[in-house]
Amino acid sequence: MTSVEETVKELASQTRDEFYHYLSIPTVSAQKTGIPETVEAVKAMLEKRGADVRVLDDLGGNPVIYASFVSSKSDKTLLFYNHYDVQPPEPFDEWLSEPFVPTLRDDILYCRGVADNKGNLMTRLVAIDYLLMRDGELPCNVKFLIEGEEEIGSPHLEPYLEKYADLWQADGCIWEFGGKQEDESFVIDCGLKGLIYMELNVSTASIDAHSSLAALFDNAAWRLVQALASMKSVDNRILIEGFYDKVVAPTEEEIKRTLDIVVDQEGFNRNFGLTRPFIEDGRNPANGLALTFSPTLTVNGLLSGYINQGSKTVLPKAAMAKIECRLVLGQTPADIEQLVRKHLHKHGFDDIELKVLAAQSPYRCPMDSAFVKLVEASANDVYQPESKVLIRPTNAGTGPMDLFGKYLNGMSIATSGTGWAKSQAHAPNESMRMSDYYQGIRHMIRLMDTMDDMEG
Ligand SMILES: [Zn+2]
Repeated sequence: MTSVEETVKELASQTRDEFYHYLSIPTVSAQKTGIPETVEAVKAMLEKRGADVRVLDDLGGNPVIYASFVSSKSDKTLLFYNHYDVQPPEPFDEWLSEPFVPTLRDDILYCRGVADNKGNLMTRLVAIDYLLMRDGELPCNVKFLIEGEEEIGSPHLEPYLEKYADLWQADGCIWEFGGKQEDESFVIDCGLKGLIYMELNVSTASIDAHSSLAALFDNAAWRLVQALASMKSVDNRILIEGFYDKVVAPTEEEIKRTLDIVVDQEGFNRNFGLTRPFIEDGRNPANGLALTFSPTLTVNGLLSGYINQGSKTVLPKAAMAKIECRLVLGQTPADIEQLVRKHLHKHGFDDIELKVLAAQSPYRCPMDSAFVKLVEASANDVYQPESKVLIRPTNAGTGPMDLFGKYLNGMSIATSGTGWAKSQAHAPNESMRMSDYYQGIRHMIRLMDTMDDMEG
């Protein structure tokens, strides 16, 4: 074992109490719990390491934390984006240990938020500990933007980024998450899909009716499912007119890089107990291309009528659906909202009320930017040869990356994190392997150590 590895483990053990304290606070943004305590804990961890910290809370929402470490050794600046909020822990009975009690089993740490995103913030902080211990200062300037509403769609982040854009200027940004695939390859993403989340409501009467009246009355549930069915074909083509029109086609290089990444169809079948064939079966063997470049339309939930035990012959007065589209480069939430409204109108569903609950635009930065190359090279130094290091143009997930591009001069952004195939972020028994934690810390050390070599 090299001395860096030994020292990293030692520092990880010395900082375990503050890490566990951070994990133990139930910072559930959706349920508005634990916010002030967590902000205090994060501020204390940053100040303890000598950062200049500002807790920004003048524009609404949970506070956004700015922190800065100045270096005399380099004029390059690295920005870290992280979030201190977590998803709700429910369902409780599926957890093998208490969701907010950090629990180590077989060198895997279990806790809500350990993978998404508290563990990743700790890798940045322990890497800073290492560099400060070694040199007394960091090899490059380092800034943090740590928000507390990522898990509810970052509804207040834009005004903070706009007003405080000067604070967060940097030469590149490490995104909050990242990590390894089922086959242990380490994937660095340079973009994210966008999202529009909508609620559809339809009401056909002021009270539920006896279902014998179905010969006379229209039915809210039917209205809604017919409207939904009009939006997508049985072979999964989205039928909303214009939906695909502005999609920016991937470049040859982006396709090539995407095809390097194996989508483990068997693994998905096993882990999810899928009973239907993959959508891309027989049409496009490259599931990875679909995952990376295809926009989606998903019914997230449906509610109408009688759903309890036995039968109730009722004609429902109302129906509700929650639906989402994952958006790819070229699509914007505002455009898609207009297209869905037009679609409903054109198909005679003007009585369906549409409400947008969340919206985020997609973002992709060039895979050959000087910063992405540096992140890749530093990852190669740490993860090879056990893990292949792969660059992917975009992750299938969503986050506020486009805002960073918009307000921070088209910032080059790449992911790096401690995720693994069974992280179970957002699900019960969320976890992080300690081996990934140590490697994540080492990657951050290596990246900060090489920031000054960045071209441009
Ligand atoms: Zn999350």
